[in-house]
Amino acid sequence: MTESTLLFNELRDRALVCTACRLADTRTNVVFGVGDPEADLMLVGEAPGKNEDAQGEPFVGAAGQLLDELLAGIEIKRDEVYIANVLKCRPPGNRDPKEDEIDSCKGYLREQIRLISPDVVVTLGNFATKLLTPTEMGITRMRGRRINWWLGATLIPTFHPAAALRGRPQVKEQMQQDFALVARALAESSAETDEPAPVQNSLDLS
Ligand code: URA
Repeated sequence: MTESTLLFNELRDRALVCTACRLADTRTNVVFGVGDPEADLMLVGEAPGKNEDAQGEPFVGAAGQLLDELLAGIEIKRDEVYIANVLKCRPPGNRDPKEDEIDSCKGYLREQIRLISPDVVVTLGNFATKLLTPTEMGITRMRGRRINWWLGATLIPTFHPAAALRGRPQVKEQMQQDFALVARALAESSAETDEPAPVQNSLDLS
């Protein structure tokens, strides 16, 4: 087991028994995250809903199905990415996260991102976008941008899939465009990695 896997498992074990905020009293399960801890692509949602709280896994309801469809549209499977939320526990009745809950929880997300070190991070909706970027702008203006971000990653904000489920058909189309941008950013970052290192020799054979 690599050092990073060990640290990731330790982080998850700590989160699973976390009592740092009031949501510990009402949750069924802590929803730490799911997927490949060495993924190139990480998706960050808002908070678990009813189904996620029951199953202990993010995005398993209708919003999750749409997320899978958007990923399939760029030929990526759910188990090839890492999916997490800003909050690891469900706010009762799916109310909005409170500021002190986000403050208590954000250290887990920061460590997840640091250990996974993805090439591309997609923020789904306002809460994730506002936590991870220093913006006051709403998601309608932020979506579809490529932001040079922490640890050399590219951050791309898009709508929350639930917004596409209840909104105009245009929202889903815009999300598809944003996911096409994600595919391009991933291809570019893998092209950078595949570039051969410059030949280091005095005869200049390169
Ligand atoms: N909405 C979210 O933001 N996260 C989930 O895990 C499910 C729904």
